[in-house]
Amino acid sequence: MRERRMDYRLQRRALLREVTEGTRGLGDVRDAHPDLVRAGVHIGSQAGEPCPLCRRPELRHVVYVFEGKGARTSSGRAVPREALAQHAERHGDLTVYVVEVCTACHWHHLLESYRQLARGTAVG
Ligand SMILES: [Zn+2]
Repeated sequence: MRERRMDYRLQRRALLREVTEGTRGLGDVRDAHPDLVRAGVHIGSQAGEPCPLCRRPELRHVVYVFEGKGARTSSGRAVPREALAQHAERHGDLTVYVVEVCTACHWHHLLESYRQLARGTAVG
């Protein structure tokens, strides 16, 4: 069950426009953390579209979960998307962040975040 979904695609588009216009350097946006790239390779799912920067097909979606309300200061962990419901059942409500990462050029951006509620939790 999902609630309070936040979409970051507008920010993504704005950032890509800055790159196209040259006001933002490629080095600024191709700086994915090695852990994120690794997660993209091993447990990421196919994005279903090419990388917006290098046009290669290595664009992946990585799902990070944070327990509870998901203070971004606490350390999240990457889980396979299929394991989300199971994870929520075991750990209670989660905050989920979906990040795209290109394992070829290391472009990365946050796509969306939402709360994944443990099954049976009433939605307020
Ligand atoms: Zn790329």
